[in-house]
Amino acid sequence: MRPPASRYRRFDDAAHPMLPFMAQGSAMAIEDAAVLARSIGAFDDLELALSRYQAVRRERTARVILQSRAQTNLYQRLTGDKKRQRAASTEWVYGFDATSCAI
Ligand SMILES: Cc1cc2nc3c(=O)[nH]c(=O)nc-3n(C[C@H](O)[C@H](O)[C@H](O)COP(=O)(O)OP(=O)(O)OC[C@H]3O[C@@H](n4cnc5c(N)ncnc54)[C@H](O)[C@@H]3O)c2cc1C
Repeated sequence: MRPPASRYRRFDDAAHPMLPFMAQGSAMAIEDAAVLARSIGAFDDLELALSRYQAVRRERTARVILQSRAQTNLYQRLTGDKKRQRAASTEWVYGFDATSCAI
């Protein structure tokens, strides 16, 4: 007998496939795993743990998906100061700490 649909969860690329222009596909999968492990450890109720995990990850992965999409045309064109400005504007991506974010 199959479990109800609500018990299925998608992770990693199956949950949030993205264009490669921030090189974040695997990074998001690793963050997913860290936050999922913390959620399961923090809540006795598995459904609650999965819901909190999903809520936390949805916002961040959606932002990375949109930023990767936005960079489609920029990826190989920037040089000098513009390249440095772009790097500074993506600190929110590369500075994220899945081991200490709120859950
Ligand atoms: C060329 C390239 C460069 C990349 N560079 C980066 C990078 O620099 N940084 C970064 O963060 N991400 C990068 N990525 C993205 C990253 O590889 C993916 O986001 C990541 O691997 C997704 O992990 P996943 O576990 O969701 O899927 P996958 O790694 O694709 O794992 C899914 C696994 O399931 C198996 N599978 C599929 N169907 C079945 C089945 N029916 N039964 C059993 N097994 C099955 C597959 O064989 C596979 O082993 C890159 C991707 C590519 C293609």
